[in-house]
Amino acid sequence: MDKKIIEQIEKILLTEKEELKKQLESFADKNKHAENDYDAKFPDYGNHEDENAAEVADFEGGLYLEKTLEKSLQKTIEALESIKKGTYGKCIQCGKSIPEKRCLAFPTANKCMDCKKSTL
Ligand SMILES: [Zn+2]
Repeated sequence: MDKKIIEQIEKILLTEKEELKKQLESFADKNKHAENDYDAKFPDYGNHEDENAAEVADFEGGLYLEKTLEKSLQKTIEALESIKKGTYGKCIQCGKSIPEKRCLAFPTANKCMDCKKSTL
């Protein structure tokens, strides 16, 4: 893959990484024992029954969002690491090159279309 395109993708991934971290930090606490792991905070709206119900609902929503964002963060970090190792743009399953167009549209893609389809 063209070096310039890899640089472009690396920039997109770095921005994405910061953006995901910011989003996670807005409602979750960073886990001190594990890097890039977050724990959704339990909200405190008050001690009224309605408030307690809203706390639980928001906490559950937060947990879901946390898992989704963490997954994206993990994929972003893996993609950045593969750029460093020089393996970026290769399918992790069959080793074939992933088309540049696909990498630019989905910078965290680590499988070619054929392998992606077969795992769905
Ligand atoms: Zn493949």
